[in-house]
Amino acid sequence: MLVLDAGEQSNRPAHGIGGLLGHDGLAPAELHARGRAELAAYPSIEVRDVRVIGGSPQERGFMLSTADSVQVQTARVLLATGMDYAAPDLPGVAELWGATVFHCPYCHGWEVRDGALGVLGNAAATHRALLLRGWSADVVLLTDGPADLDADERGQLQRANVPVVERRVAGVRGRGGALEAVLFADGGKLPRDGLLVPAPLRQRSSLASDLGAELTERGTVDVDAFGQTTVPGLYAAGDVSSLMPQVAGAIAEGSRAAAMINGDLLVEQYGIEPMMPRRTAVPTG
Ligand SMILES: Cc1cc2nc3c(=O)[nH]c(=O)nc-3n(C[C@H](O)[C@H](O)[C@H](O)COP(=O)(O)OP(=O)(O)OC[C@H]3O[C@@H](n4cnc5c(N)ncnc54)[C@H](O)[C@@H]3O)c2cc1C
Repeated sequence: MLVLDAGEQSNRPAHGIGGLLGHDGLAPAELHARGRAELAAYPSIEVRDVRVIGGSPQERGFMLSTADSVQVQTARVLLATGMDYAAPDLPGVAELWGATVFHCPYCHGWEVRDGALGVLGNAAATHRALLLRGWSADVVLLTDGPADLDADERGQLQRANVPVVERRVAGVRGRGGALEAVLFADGGKLPRDGLLVPAPLRQRSSLASDLGAELTERGTVDVDAFGQTTVPGLYAAGDVSSLMPQVAGAIAEGSRAAAMINGDLLVEQYGIEPMMPRRTAVPTG
């Protein structure tokens, strides 16, 4: 069992993990360190701090190449490569990202509860604005220009007491590491304690496609309920294939896929019937 990890988890900028039972508020780097320490107790697991830079399906299994020029031949692959979160490219956002400027209310909403909150977005942002109302009565939708909202959405926002601000957003300003205000292009500002921003997820590399995996319309790896991709022997778990990117989900999916891979190997080794339905034939030697 070989773990190849470049060590760039997407939540590293966050102070703490929200919504992870048993570890609420734990620093992401600490969770990673604990995971590594636990793995170290198992002699059958090797961990290498290295990036996989290429991969291809082979007649049997897969070939992976690493940044330190090593070729790895493997019978199965579990892709858990995460995704890139494309936070808005606005001045000040990077410094506050993962704390008072955030993409996920479930992850960081509690910390800014009852504060003056903003939601950056236009078309399709109504849902996120209404969602954030659960954390505060003071929520403003910032559309960064003329609002692209239909009459239904305007009515829903009005009923929830969410004003729509159409001024152009030029950036954010922090103070003492926390958001202080949203800055407008006209020179004005709006004091805010928290800002929910869109952060579309993208594949970090072409690795999944290089291995033959099909992607969904959303850009995630297409998997079944057990993490099986469209390629026999190739599994995926976590953000790279998830409908709802969260740490708890990633852990659950990884654990499920690992059990399926183990089952696969038993099918291959002993010729038993798969315990669970298989999307593709189990590869056999
Ligand atoms: C700022 C921020 C804050 C967040 N806060 C929360 C929160 O509070 N609660 C919550 O539940 N979720 C939160 N999330 C979402 C959460 O981080 C993800 O859902 C979770 O990290 C997904 O786990 P993963 O293992 O799929 O991906 P990741 O944690 O991103 O890990 C993927 C790993 O694969 C490695 N990797 C990628 N490509 C390669 C390669 N080619 N070769 C080798 N290694 C590679 C990466 O370097 C990384 O170590 C947050 C996300 C962001 C961006």
